[in-house]
Amino acid sequence: MDAERWLAMELSAPGKPLQAAWRERLPQPGPGQLRIAVACCGVCRTDLHIVDGELPFPGRPLVPGHEIVGRVAALGAGVQGFAIGQRVGVPWLGYTCGACEDCRAGRENLCPQARFTGWQIDGGYAEQVLADARFAFALPARYTDEQAAPLLCAGLIGWRAYRMAGLAARRIGLYGFGAAAHLLAQVARHQGREVYAFTRPGDAPAQALARELGAAWAGGSDEPAPVELDAALLFAPAGSLVPLALAAVRRGGTVVCAGIHMSDIPSFPYALLWGERRLVSVANLTREDGVQFLRVAGEFELRVHSVPYALADAQRALDDLRAGRFAGAAVLRVAAR
Ligand SMILES: [Zn+2]
Ligand SMILES: [Zn+2]
Repeated sequence: MDAERWLAMELSAPGKPLQAAWRERLPQPGPGQLRIAVACCGVCRTDLHIVDGELPFPGRPLVPGHEIVGRVAALGAGVQGFAIGQRVGVPWLGYTCGACEDCRAGRENLCPQARFTGWQIDGGYAEQVLADARFAFALPARYTDEQAAPLLCAGLIGWRAYRMAGLAARRIGLYGFGAAAHLLAQVARHQGREVYAFTRPGDAPAQALARELGAAWAGGSDEPAPVELDAALLFAPAGSLVPLALAAVRRGGTVVCAGIHMSDIPSFPYALLWGERRLVSVANLTREDGVQFLRVAGEFELRVHSVPYALADAQRALDDLRAGRFAGAAVLRVAAR
């Protein structure tokens, strides 16, 4: 038995089930890279969009996973600020050019050359991963590996969506109460805001979790909001929610679409948008979003409702996410082999 042998769960083509792929040699970090022994990797809805072919397939087998928590196992040439054995997190944003107009203007999330972990760059559904050290984060010590994983996308991108709602937003609606919303609900409560949670109609476990985490109200997305909202964050990938959310926010309010993929938005009367309501999307994250969110997450104890799966069961985790079979965030336990 080769001591270097390690497992990755690979997607060979969209729509195919993930397959166990055994690698025979440990990957060598190039200049500026870390090799990370993965401890846990969160399962994000974006992984589902990649696996289901709703995002363009890069044309070669890939390893999904962009909520990676692990320990630095090898340092490439020139890496600064990391040590062997240190715990690190790797998010969705895996590379930017640093030179284009967007990068220079603080919008690296929109860099046309950007590459993403678990899509163009092999991700964390694996025992080993390579990452550009400039895009890796130190993690707040108060969270276990399993708790920290969902912070890296559900938390970070949720945070970017939340910031886009504006500081003045007091009453915030969260549509789709899954991994991102269950974290952001707590951040919003911590910052003195009111949370209204909209779930799939009849999803009692998600509604119970929302109330437990401090939501003032929880109900189905087919129910009218009990109050006029200042902002609505859409984490569910259903375009039909957009007119409903616009109808629920007050004049001057904001609706933020936080997902990378959404079904078509049905046409709606202009009156829903009129009154200076704003409809915006959130794309990816910047490293600054990560720094800010992880600082906030270090300030108080976020309760992370993670649902564990073994690495080899990654496909089942994706299937359960697609079917809405759990409340909270699925996390692959990788190191426990
Ligand atoms: Zn750029
Ligand atoms: Zn994600």
